Amino acid sequence: MSKFVGAHVSAAGGVENAPKNAAKIGATAFALFTKNQRQWKAKPLTKESVERFDEYLLECGIKKEHILPHDSYLINLGHPDEDKRRKSLEAFIDEIKRCEELGLNKLNFHPGSHLREISEERCLEYIADSINGALLESESVTLVIENTAGQGSNLGYRFEHLAYLIQMCEDKGRIGVCLDTAHMFAAGYDIRTKEAYDRSMEEFERVVGFEYLKGMHLNDSKAEFNSKKDRHHSLGKGHIGLEAFRFIMQDSRMDGIPLILETIDDSIWDEEIRLLYSFMEE
Ligand SMILES: [Zn+2]
Ligand SMILES: [Zn+2]
Repeated sequence: MSKFVGAHVSAAGGVENAPKNAAKIGATAFALFTKNQRQWKAKPLTKESVERFDEYLLECGIKKEHILPHDSYLINLGHPDEDKRRKSLEAFIDEIKRCEELGLNKLNFHPGSHLREISEERCLEYIADSINGALLESESVTLVIENTAGQGSNLGYRFEHLAYLIQMCEDKGRIGVCLDTAHMFAAGYDIRTKEAYDRSMEEFERVVGFEYLKGMHLNDSKAEFNSKKDRHHSLGKGHIGLEAFRFIMQDSRMDGIPLILETIDDSIWDEEIRLLYSFMEE
């Protein structure tokens, strides 16, 4: 099997529950928060929790390279305020260390927001500094920048933003990107038809490069094309439509990386995963 599909599953009650929740929906990949995503502080992972996590992963046959942890929504690595930026960086480093303790090799994050207080350029410089600071303070995790819809003052909605952050990164072996289909679409990269999909992916190749693609978020969009709004929907129910997901499942450039659903109805994740796999057999 060349495609690894799953969802952002719950880790409530401990990280060890995430592999179980992934197995229940027939996933071969998954995303999780390694701590409560709405709190700054978290208790350290216990040895038991880490051991069980490993044990359950072996049981369900999911490999660590197909797990794409997501960082907390509170973190803003480009915060205009120096103290708040430092607080974010410290929390980010803590999240990287949690991934390292779990033996995971990736951490997915949103670049940051300028909060309309500083320019986009200055904010991107701050984010690049934060990334380099985090790399110095950690050993092994690849930092995976997610493209955004461009809602509010969030950066990362242009491929050029991602390319800039990669260019400024002092360790190219530990930087990557995650493409979220709903965010791409809302940011003005069309993927609804084969022609549009090919054009948008060619642009990604030219500006960023597929060698940096470490994961994808497969979401349909409640928000319209180029609306700069971040509203996920179930596959085939939004403005993107099913075709785009067929193109992805039949595209060898997405082989071997975690493909993660963040769609709104978790009761149909199992069906969505089966549907995605069925596209490969056509
Ligand atoms: Zn995200
Ligand atoms: Zn996403």
